[in-house]
Amino acid sequence: MSKYVEQVLKDVQAKNANEPEFIQAVDEVLTTLDPVLKANPQYEKNAILERMVEPERVVIFRVPWVDDKGVVRVNRGYRIQMNSAIGPYKGGLRFDPTVNLSVLKFLAFEQVFKNSLTTLPMGGGKGGSDFNPKVSPHTPGKRCSDAEVMRFCQSFMTELFRHIGADTDVPAGDMNVGGREIGYMFGQYKRLANEWTGVLTGKGLSFGGSLIRPEATGYGDIYFAENMLAMRGETFEGKRCVISGSGNVASYAAEKLMQLGAKVLTLSDRSGAIYAEGGITEKMLKDIMVLKNVKRGELAEFAKKTKAVKFFAGKNSWQLADKIDAAFPCARQNELNGKDAEYLLKHGCKLVGEGANMPSTPDAIAAFVKAKIMYSPGKASNAGGVATSGLEMSQNSERLSWTREEVDAKLKGIMKSIHDNAWEAAAKYGQKGNYVMGANIAGFVKVADAMVAQGVC
Ligand code: NAP
Repeated sequence: MSKYVEQVLKDVQAKNANEPEFIQAVDEVLTTLDPVLKANPQYEKNAILERMVEPERVVIFRVPWVDDKGVVRVNRGYRIQMNSAIGPYKGGLRFDPTVNLSVLKFLAFEQVFKNSLTTLPMGGGKGGSDFNPKVSPHTPGKRCSDAEVMRFCQSFMTELFRHIGADTDVPAGDMNVGGREIGYMFGQYKRLANEWTGVLTGKGLSFGGSLIRPEATGYGDIYFAENMLAMRGETFEGKRCVISGSGNVASYAAEKLMQLGAKVLTLSDRSGAIYAEGGITEKMLKDIMVLKNVKRGELAEFAKKTKAVKFFAGKNSWQLADKIDAAFPCARQNELNGKDAEYLLKHGCKLVGEGANMPSTPDAIAAFVKAKIMYSPGKASNAGGVATSGLEMSQNSERLSWTREEVDAKLKGIMKSIHDNAWEAAAKYGQKGNYVMGANIAGFVKVADAMVAQGVC
């Protein structure tokens, strides 16, 4: 590691000592950049790394709201505006009790490189709240009602609206923020700003949303993996795949894999994992999507009613199948550790395509890179979501809606560009096939060059 990187990492650790996820994300990127920093001394001269690890702005705010029993509740809201060198800040909002400054800064940092990789003009940001829509504050075993979620979203946007805008910062969904929440927040923004503008993406189709946006992250993850397989002359036909999660990313990754002839063996959620030796069918997947998105239930309930699946309470998807060709972590950060990686490699896994952000721990990543399998980091392979958000912004600006086929074709094209750019960047610096290094370098160079050109700001 160069002295420059070592010093910046030391400073990041000292300044952000209580932010482990942020330090992990910065470490993962910076430790792969040595070759490009050496070849481009202007980056060090312009303190590019020091500036990239410092958010341009962090907003933290109170979110008071009233529950269905009339009790006043208070959550904490955040928006991290990380880097706007190549476009307006762009990145999702996450509502989850695990949300804190460290988690959001790691996500915002990752987002900068991811958005750069999409080839679209988008800077990086992230936000959210420690609000938990999945647990009612007053009735054990129940979730927040729609009315409670609406009141929370309205209060959240009442503060956030003054920090965002179609040319400033364009948030989207993330964990526990889907079409319902985006709709409520968009409605509140419109009231406050008195304008109809594409200030959020992931909107409903009747008010400026884009076709394929819900599918885009999961589909994009699989398109990226198809490109990796194509480099080895292979396809998904007959491949045995394990997926974690059963939310937005996981379910559309599963759908695309099935369309391509792969067998999806597992899905998971907070209750546990389901395993189907014969493969999860399209009908099962449809039922699971209704269960998760409409009834807002758990896989444990699904497993009780479905004989063809086995349920493993409290388990993730990695160590359930005997023979595995490919794994897709699509739930959350640090959900696949060194032991899981060892199991996957031992049971034949040749491809890991991250749908979630930073789902593999550093020792798992090291194992995949060492084994030289096809391993794509989330910032490259889950970029299809934000790329399609970028396409939603373009459609909003044009006041047009593109067809499903048009958006899907653009998404496929973008995922191929991301794959090829990462592949070429890795090859250029002598690490052919190392998508971690390739994605980090390709994402970094575009932002770094823009920052150098824009002077010290
Ligand atoms: P989501 O719809 O909320 O789904 C998240 C899934 O992860 C759910 O199945 C959830 O289970 C599971 N999960 C969360 N925390 C868990 C825990 N502690 N233990 C076990 N399972 C847990 O979210 P998503 O949009 O699919 O996002 C998933 C990942 O992809 C996140 O890392 C997100 O940042 C990343 N990502 C999303 C997008 C996008 O467009 N949505 C784009 C890029 C990256 P429950 O249902 O039981 O809660």
